[in-house]
Amino acid sequence: MIASVLLEIKAKSVDKTFDYLIPESLNNVIKIGMRVLVPFASQQLEGYVIEIKNHSNTSLELKEILKNIDEEVILNPELLEIGAYIKESTLSSLSSAYSTMLPTALKARKKTQIGKKYETYLSLQIPLNQAYLLCKKEPQKEILELFESGVVISKKDAQSISLSSTNTLIKKGILKEDKEESYRYQIKELEQDLKKALNEEQTMALKKIKQSFGQSKTILLKGVTGSGKTEIYMQSIEEIQKLKKQALVLVPEISLTPQFIRNFARRFKSNIAVLHSGLNDGEKYDEWRKIEREEVSIVIGARSAIFAPLKNLGIIIIDECHSDSYKQENRPKYHAHDIALFRSKYHHCPVILGSATPSLETYARGKKGLYELVLLNHRVHKNPLPEVTLVDMAKEAKNHHFIMSELLELKIEDRLKKKEQIMILLNRRGHSTTIHCSSCGFTYKCPYCDITLTFHKSTKNLRCHYCGYTKFLENACPNCHEDALNYYGLGTEKLESAMKEKFPSARIIRMDTDTTNKKGALEKIEEEFRAHHYDILIGTQMISKGLDFPNVTLVGIVSADITLNLPDFRSGEKTFALLYQASGRAGRGNIKGEVIIETYNPDNHVLNCVKNQDFEKFYEYEMNIRKTLKYPPYYYLAHLEVKSKNYEEAKNESAKVAHFLKRKLNKTSIILGPTTANMFRINNVYHFEIMIKYRFDENLKPALKELDDLFLLNHKVSLDIDMSY
Ligand code: ADP
Ligand code: ZN
Repeated sequence: MIASVLLEIKAKSVDKTFDYLIPESLNNVIKIGMRVLVPFASQQLEGYVIEIKNHSNTSLELKEILKNIDEEVILNPELLEIGAYIKESTLSSLSSAYSTMLPTALKARKKTQIGKKYETYLSLQIPLNQAYLLCKKEPQKEILELFESGVVISKKDAQSISLSSTNTLIKKGILKEDKEESYRYQIKELEQDLKKALNEEQTMALKKIKQSFGQSKTILLKGVTGSGKTEIYMQSIEEIQKLKKQALVLVPEISLTPQFIRNFARRFKSNIAVLHSGLNDGEKYDEWRKIEREEVSIVIGARSAIFAPLKNLGIIIIDECHSDSYKQENRPKYHAHDIALFRSKYHHCPVILGSATPSLETYARGKKGLYELVLLNHRVHKNPLPEVTLVDMAKEAKNHHFIMSELLELKIEDRLKKKEQIMILLNRRGHSTTIHCSSCGFTYKCPYCDITLTFHKSTKNLRCHYCGYTKFLENACPNCHEDALNYYGLGTEKLESAMKEKFPSARIIRMDTDTTNKKGALEKIEEEFRAHHYDILIGTQMISKGLDFPNVTLVGIVSADITLNLPDFRSGEKTFALLYQASGRAGRGNIKGEVIIETYNPDNHVLNCVKNQDFEKFYEYEMNIRKTLKYPPYYYLAHLEVKSKNYEEAKNESAKVAHFLKRKLNKTSIILGPTTANMFRINNVYHFEIMIKYRFDENLKPALKELDDLFLLNHKVSLDIDMSY
């Protein structure tokens, strides 16, 4: 028999399949989806068997497979198909797709040697009282005593009493050793938490979800913060388990806190496998095998858990479905929603998308009926949503309040006195500097794209990264003519020290990527803040999601404009989601919450929608902009990046690419650029970007494929394609 083996040939991750003879001795061993070791040129390479056939079309003499690496199939038929789908839909190589899908231990790469972990056990071969008679030495008797409470003991326990006695007992045939595979990660067994009696809205939602069982359809569960979505997820899972089917739950990485996992563990005991970046490669490998062997029926994980090899999937749940963490930024640039839809068709099971602030694309599908829209309009505990106040920082600045407004300071003092807790959000995700007038709040915007211009320090000019519009930076503000143009750049660290100075007796803690990069640090901050060891929690968007502290009655949002001014057509949407979620942290207990939002744009429509907690109004406003400017969901976007260490090469090649596209694509497709990318130079590599706005263009994919193949041969310039930007 002959096997087609997929090999990844270094350099530009080109993949190719090569035929190999299956040696007689491996005839019944090698199966489709296994990894094998094969000779290739002068090396030995690992690859996946993707086909087994009777004869080969190559005229060359075939070499033999050296050995199988796995005893089990790694890529089952569904995973093989998903890989092919990723290759086709994201224009990436098959080997990079499989590599993304599998845990490190199972990738076809030499040197990643992560084996199974075994535990050795000892068992008695003769009755215990007889064994005592045969042993004279004290340590031997002590080891035998371990069998008073169980028939099997761990060899390690016996060895800790005496190494030599353990060996003697085995040699004498009194004890026998057995090796058994053990898992590195075990979910803690906790006291069971029974399901809650659902309220009316929750009951309706669960009913709709149950009705969708056995069908490939998507339900958008849009529920305000605190509306009890997690309870609905858990009860849906209980229902699907009654049908002997499995559940896959995706959450953003930052929501995967130990607390979240504990909540599920309390309900479902150890019937759960967990996949997230906090686990090491060995632990991930073990979790994967628990799933593969059907020892668990629930998988909870971040983005890549969407590939978990569940064979009898009954429901897929994507919590906080608007999160950007579901899109992979490197090639293959897949979106977990798309893989979920693929699997939903494969297994005839529903996909549940949950969020308080779904993306416009998702919500528009809900409104059109492509997804079933299920609403939860009330908080479970009937406590009202918090009261939100917008503070005009332009006025505050005149009174020398640059970081914190007078109102926020007063409210903080008040809460400190009442021994209530405070959360302060400062999101500094905006890397590019914004030029901003501290007198009137003016920010430079592109006249054609309604997004902010980014300042390029080296050339002292402002640019639009979508259409290429460029403008020189004046010395004075073009709006109020004050000499008050500033770089906007306040981070959490600077805020923390300012607050410590202002409130010397307050206990303040900070949560951002810098303070939580050590294992367990995030959990520690969360626990200590919950136990009220701190009064004020300062943080980036990390603190905006999922956290549930009943004693927090005040949320302050400093520099709300940072996200608003991102050079991105989604900045309004991102701001709304962030501030709405952050506001939802206030007043989850018995006292009504309050939110102070500091901005230079108190009239801004998005901020006013946050103030009124009005998603619907925000949606309509933003959809209008998207329609006028031809952005999603009215148009699809494909994004191309042309990169090179050589500026001229990148520039010229990107111009050629744009020219090529203009020739090949339909007239209805819009090609923008090339322009310099937002991050123009990264590690001395120059980036140019081209954006394609399209609706239906049968010429697009073939054209992009042609370009992609062309650039694989180019060693100076590379092309990066993102089909779902
Ligand atoms: P969401 O995810 O929608 O923001 P959660 O699922 O976190 O909301 O629910 C908020 C709180 O309400 C949680 O503490 C949860 O345990 C509780 N809860 C949810 N449903 C019920 C219910 N039916 N009865 C009582 N408490 C509930
Ligand atoms: Zn523009």
